[in-house]
Amino acid sequence: MSILVTGGAGYIGSHTVAELVAQGEDIIVLDNLHTGHKKAVQVEKFYQGDVRDTALLDGIFRNHRIEAVIHLAAQSLVEESVTDPLDYYDNNVVSVHRLLSKMHKYDVKNIIFSSTAAIYGEPKQIPIQESDPTEPTNPYAETKLAVEKLLTWCDQAYGIKSVSLRYCNAAGAHPNGEIGEAHDPENHLIPIILQVALGQLEYVSIYGDDYPTDDGTCIRDYIHVMDLAHAHYLSLQWLREKGESRIYNLGNGTGFSVRQIIDQAREVTGHSIPTRTTARRPGDPAILIASADRAKKELGWTPEYSDLQTIIQTAWNWHSRHPQGYKSTVR
Ligand code: UDP
Repeated sequence: MSILVTGGAGYIGSHTVAELVAQGEDIIVLDNLHTGHKKAVQVEKFYQGDVRDTALLDGIFRNHRIEAVIHLAAQSLVEESVTDPLDYYDNNVVSVHRLLSKMHKYDVKNIIFSSTAAIYGEPKQIPIQESDPTEPTNPYAETKLAVEKLLTWCDQAYGIKSVSLRYCNAAGAHPNGEIGEAHDPENHLIPIILQVALGQLEYVSIYGDDYPTDDGTCIRDYIHVMDLAHAHYLSLQWLREKGESRIYNLGNGTGFSVRQIIDQAREVTGHSIPTRTTARRPGDPAILIASADRAKKELGWTPEYSDLQTIIQTAWNWHSRHPQGYKSTVR
């Protein structure tokens, strides 16, 4: 039987597909390639299209024996979601409604959903526990929470079992150096820093240094993308063996400030990485660190690449070998 991975050509998706293939799973990828890259996935069963395309979904579910769906296809930029919430609900919620309808129709009972630690909003305690209140501060996180709730009802009504994974900040790249993070335009801190190290940008903007943290910059929990990828495999095993719906935080439980990330990148790249402090970015909480104790205990998940130096080194291996992202990859 096969595993359908939606958004499998994206950053987290491509690493998850690589991990699942390495574990011997049979993978089908569905991706509209709006932000994903065909070159990032090496599977034969690749469908270019949208999760909202019900005829396409019918074809996929009819032509393959699908055991589980890993749903990563989504739009994920906070600022964009504030400007265009209708688009975000369409892309992130309507899509899942259609996907779940087809899962119900074709009797597919397992789904792993890519959620976010952003659904907690401004954390009430650090590290955040799964039982903490969810109070999203932007439409992007609201769409993720809406889907988590829909999944709970679909379990009750149709017996569709789900694992929702609330990710912290995904970072790093595959240790083989062949796949990595490539957004256009780039919005995330570590790739932006590395673009400065490559001479593609002049400086890094630090979005605010007046936060209530030691050095005044925001603190985040950075988790290696391969550790996230492995958590998807373990979630699949959980659904196969235990068949119960779950919600898990995925992070290292350790936070690093923007300045600490820049310092570590200076060490890894040997570049001075100039900075300029600018205004705060709307919607950014000061500190986000999550406890992943539940995932560790129940899934047996142990982050392998938790060390910040390794996270930035693997990202640097990718960016320095592929300065134009997948545009400079011949495959
Ligand atoms: N950040 C920054 N400059 C940038 C990009 C990001 O100072 O050019 C900060 C941002 O305010 C946040 C942290 O770096 O505190 C991580 O941001 P990113 O966009 O990578 O991930 P997010 O936390 O939004 O998921």
